[in-house]
Amino acid sequence: MSERKVRVRFAPSPTGPLHIGGVRTALYNYLFARQHGGEFIFRIEDTDSNRFVPGAEEYILESFRWLGIPFDEGVGFGGSHGPYRQSERRAIYKEYVGRLLDSGKAYLAFDTPEELEAKRKEIPNFQYDASTRGMMRNSLSLPADEVEKLREEGAQYVVRFKVEPGEDVHVHDLIRGDVVINSSILDDKVLYKSSDELPTYHLANIVDDHLMEVTHVIRGEEWLPSAPLHVLLYRAFGWEDTMPRFAHLPLLLKPDGKGKLSKRDGDRLGFPVFPLEWHDPKTGEVSSGYRESGYLPAAVLNFLALLGWNPGTDQEIMSLDEMVRLFDIAKCSKAGAKFDYVKGLWFNREYIQMTDNGELAPVFDKVLRENGIEAPMERVEAVVGMMKMKKINFIKELWPLCDFFFIAPETYSREDKFVRKNWTESTAADLTELAALLESLDDFSVEALKSAVDHWAETQGKKPWNPWRVALVGTGKGPDMYELAAFLGKEETLRRMRKAVEILG
Ligand code: GLU
Repeated sequence: MSERKVRVRFAPSPTGPLHIGGVRTALYNYLFARQHGGEFIFRIEDTDSNRFVPGAEEYILESFRWLGIPFDEGVGFGGSHGPYRQSERRAIYKEYVGRLLDSGKAYLAFDTPEELEAKRKEIPNFQYDASTRGMMRNSLSLPADEVEKLREEGAQYVVRFKVEPGEDVHVHDLIRGDVVINSSILDDKVLYKSSDELPTYHLANIVDDHLMEVTHVIRGEEWLPSAPLHVLLYRAFGWEDTMPRFAHLPLLLKPDGKGKLSKRDGDRLGFPVFPLEWHDPKTGEVSSGYRESGYLPAAVLNFLALLGWNPGTDQEIMSLDEMVRLFDIAKCSKAGAKFDYVKGLWFNREYIQMTDNGELAPVFDKVLRENGIEAPMERVEAVVGMMKMKKINFIKELWPLCDFFFIAPETYSREDKFVRKNWTESTAADLTELAALLESLDDFSVEALKSAVDHWAETQGKKPWNPWRVALVGTGKGPDMYELAAFLGKEETLRRMRKAVEILG
């Protein structure tokens, strides 16, 4: 087999919001494509019209825009292998179903739902396969003229894959190694339904991976049981030479206990399981998203990258470029990965510290606006710079820590412990003196303030900093006093000092 250009795809079904596990699947595909100089395709698998949810496709695209994961081709991106929405590829599937029928690898089955139900009642553990197909109504069991007649009458049918029993089917999985199952346990899967003239997931998935020249199928573990059937389908079409390599990623598990991570775990423990907030169009229910909860996209990607893979060192913080360099699909774990959402908070904390203040400013600006504050972006950025050293998980947590930058204390309360401790007999006189000094300054920069106030404090033997903080903040929080005073400016600084003196006396 000649070396083919690496092509991978992310192929969600638009049945609702994208689960965070789907985001990890897409991320691993992206990392794999990038590190091999390959291409990353976005395909929409929407052949099951019953499960179609309006808005889901747009939601998925918006999620990856927010995360900063670009696709090279697909729905919304174009490309030479389109259309990339399966509902727009009906004619293609029809042709390929025809090929399987012509070569005897598939057959028509006319059994009605009632007939199937009756068989299930009659035979315990009934499975439509080599052992039972002879007793069903299909093109293998019925005389040819009867099949012809049924078709002419327009009887509904499905096309089933004719699985030959008794054969070991090998799936070569890049993570799990050689996975073998015997074809006898597989049923004759439905590939196509005449009722809606649409293929099922299995057929559409295989035909598209082939036509889109997909070289590697990297997807969640829940698809592993389908893989043997997919291998058989590749063979039935005669495409074994270009069959993609498979990699089935480990499940994401509940943060506590066993089992698959579910939305309910998120609701119960208070973390999102979707990248963006989702408004269910049917129920109106709103589910929280990482974006709206205040996570930085880079933190989310870093957190997800390490759920099921690690670089083999202790390194945890990685840029996307570093991940591309270090990622190794073969080193993904087989065992499920616990969804440690507390670790997700840690990543967000770390990324807040690492991210440019200029980039964080718009995020904080939104929080300020929610609190009725409008401030020039440079001032927002300056506050973020002074305050983000605090151990905060989310930028919105900055607000109660630094509201005083934007709102002067209205009242000064002696109930406040810090006020009580730092406002003594002589404080009013000291602050009045300090105010006079500040008023005389032309330069109100941090440096100028520091040199003037430090000098005054030393020569006068005063310690004005805590009372000064009481005046400007109203309590014992906030940054360095010189930074705060410089930020507020002379006029506002003096106004707050005089007001404190007036009220606290
Ligand atoms: N449509 C499937 C899904 O929703 C795709 C599975 C695959 O990647 O083959 O995940």
